[in-house]
Amino acid sequence: MKSMVLTEYRRLEIKDMPMPEVGPGDVRVRVDSCGICGSDVHGYDGSSGRRIPPIIMGHEAAGVVESVGPGVESVHPGDRVTFDSMISCGTCGFCRAGEINLCDNRRVVGVSPGEWKQHGAFAEYVVVPQHIVFHLPDGLSFAHAAMVEPVSVAVHAVSRTPIRLGDRAVVVGCGMIGLLTVQAAKAAGCGVVFAVDLDETRLERAARLGADVTINAKEDVSAAVVAATDGRGADVAFEAVGAANPIATAIESLRKGGALTLIGNVTPKVEVDLQAIVTRELTLYGSCASSGEYPLCLDLLGRGAIEVDELVTAVAPLEDGPVWFDRLYAREPGLMKVILQP
Ligand SMILES: [Zn+2]
Ligand SMILES: [Zn+2]
Repeated sequence: MKSMVLTEYRRLEIKDMPMPEVGPGDVRVRVDSCGICGSDVHGYDGSSGRRIPPIIMGHEAAGVVESVGPGVESVHPGDRVTFDSMISCGTCGFCRAGEINLCDNRRVVGVSPGEWKQHGAFAEYVVVPQHIVFHLPDGLSFAHAAMVEPVSVAVHAVSRTPIRLGDRAVVVGCGMIGLLTVQAAKAAGCGVVFAVDLDETRLERAARLGADVTINAKEDVSAAVVAATDGRGADVAFEAVGAANPIATAIESLRKGGALTLIGNVTPKVEVDLQAIVTRELTLYGSCASSGEYPLCLDLLGRGAIEVDELVTAVAPLEDGPVWFDRLYAREPGLMKVILQP
């Protein structure tokens, strides 16, 4: 089968690979669309240590079931499906408690950290276990369905956060995940969503996607939020960057007793205002990947409650993948999601 293989760091080759075998409980999907994730771009040069070559990357995919192994009953050949990027074991304590993203034995599709290797979906076919496969709603395109993983990251962050109807929410960082979080927060019943970023183009996009107020991070964000909330501050905040300044902005924008959900993690360690967190009784949540929210996300996508069309920069043939990886790696401005089609 045609595949795009990371043969060595910073080298992607389109080459023929053996068709992946279908074992008991497995589903072989003929891939229609597979998005390039930021984690793939990080893994590409070896810096993350999680894409040890040779590996077929790609975990944000949708396609058609081609065949199923013994014991698979939930899907059938011909079904339109997507799958979770994470393969939970189903038997550890966390899985049995329903916290599948915290699974002790989790694997990620298209990842090879050394102890294991799980080929991904930058290929004509990919094999995944049936328990991570989900049907697509009618009318949801494969390219949009391939966005379900980033959508699930935003939806999980919102699910983690104690939101009440009409709450005022601040979203700091309007990249892909921030823009999806704006939409998920609105869908969850937030009354006013403030979107914060340094980039005016991103703020305009946030406004188009449902943010009620946009604030450039160069301004005094917390003062603007406090002024717009009768001197109280926001009830909840989301940080979708992962750096000291945006985290400080989120903390300063919260009311007493408010909650901050941390999604971004580009900086491994940051200083935070301990006094503000303690004396104002703020609650901080970490949010990682998603935990069983795929059906909900597919429903939100199918109904248009979350829109992803604006977030897709390009849909290109798999053969163009190496060029797109280079452009993403070079941080070409304005690029968001690139979807490859084998
Ligand atoms: Zn991803
Ligand atoms: Zn587990």
